[in-house]
Amino acid sequence: MAERRIYADNAATTAVSDAALSAMLPYFKECYGNPSATHSFGTEAKRGLEEARSTVARALGARVNEIYFTSGGTESDNWALYAAAELRKKKGSHIVITEIEHSAVYRTAKEMEKKGFDITFLPVDREGHVTPEQLEDAIRDNTVLVSIMMANNEIGTILPIRELCAVARKRGVLFHTDAVQAAGHIPVDAVGLGVDMLSVSGHKFGGPKGVGALYVNLRTVVPPMIIGGGQEKGRRSGTSNVPGAVGMAAALEDAVLHMGENAQKIAILRDRLISGVLQLPQAELTGDPVHRLPGLASFVFSGVEGEVLVSLLNEAGICVSSGSACSAGSGEPSRVLKAAGYDGTSASAAIRFSLSENNTSDDVTYILAQLPFILEKAKTIKFTARDLDFDGD
Ligand code: PLP
Repeated sequence: MAERRIYADNAATTAVSDAALSAMLPYFKECYGNPSATHSFGTEAKRGLEEARSTVARALGARVNEIYFTSGGTESDNWALYAAAELRKKKGSHIVITEIEHSAVYRTAKEMEKKGFDITFLPVDREGHVTPEQLEDAIRDNTVLVSIMMANNEIGTILPIRELCAVARKRGVLFHTDAVQAAGHIPVDAVGLGVDMLSVSGHKFGGPKGVGALYVNLRTVVPPMIIGGGQEKGRRSGTSNVPGAVGMAAALEDAVLHMGENAQKIAILRDRLISGVLQLPQAELTGDPVHRLPGLASFVFSGVEGEVLVSLLNEAGICVSSGSACSAGSGEPSRVLKAAGYDGTSASAAIRFSLSENNTSDDVTYILAQLPFILEKAKTIKFTARDLDFDGD
């Protein structure tokens, strides 16, 4: 085991922040009532839940009755897309997404394709961008929904959602953005962006896992996807995860409060990491070099395999992902990198470092010191999926 351990996989998940943990604790053993109950235990829990809703709304530039709690980013994304299915009956069955959406959107769209929806997968350029002109050309009379992510989880590129959304709105088409990697890290102003729906997930910004939210603009009607006891104004049934919602709200409030200073600090570390890694002959930075998430630096390294690198880095105590954590461990080339024009070999050789405010300058120094030796060693090893006993998250 290495002497030190560096966590540089914050795009996969983050540590729960102190603010989130202390806000949540009373909701496990004291205010544990069911918020739907009318007795005092219930009303206490209900108060916590509704305060959490107000906090999340404020942090996302939304109105309080536009926030619906879910079990996370995946559910929010699925819901936003399936909502279009209801609208299909009235207007059509065409949906536009990009080639680089997270699987929570991409695979949902693929499933919907099998059920008769017509999906356009917009291609991206080498940096992961789509243009408003591309979107304009893709929208048809029967288009019911556009879903484009705010920031990409593998390459860190920030997409111009305001401009893209304006194109969809002009054509009367619903617009959803997956802001799971953006919220808490870069400003998100749901009303200002003009979007109809926006997904966030607690564990990406210091909240607990298994809780998220879907913002639904007041003008937008989204049918429920989960039916049952009628919680969340009948739009998302299931006993509310009160500690989760409270923890997510506290984490988001804290992240937004410290966003300026944290983003600055993290971006300095990221940029030092990028310039150090780019000294290595076989390294290439992926994504937009400027418009990128503060903590995310992803590279392809020619002549090595991403999973081998992840494993060797792990032996040296450096915890990162190859591509997205969700497909990591599969040994498959990254779909996102292939979409951005990387060949299969390069797309299998990606490493994503994602830093947080908990990382230090020493961490970057250590990574940069270890990487040349690890790369040399990695060149001599061939990946087989069986070598790994983990399958990502
Ligand atoms: N969307 C993006 C961009 C993500 O990065 C992730 C998580 O990896 C998700 C959606 C899914 O979120 P969750 O893990 O909360 O289901």
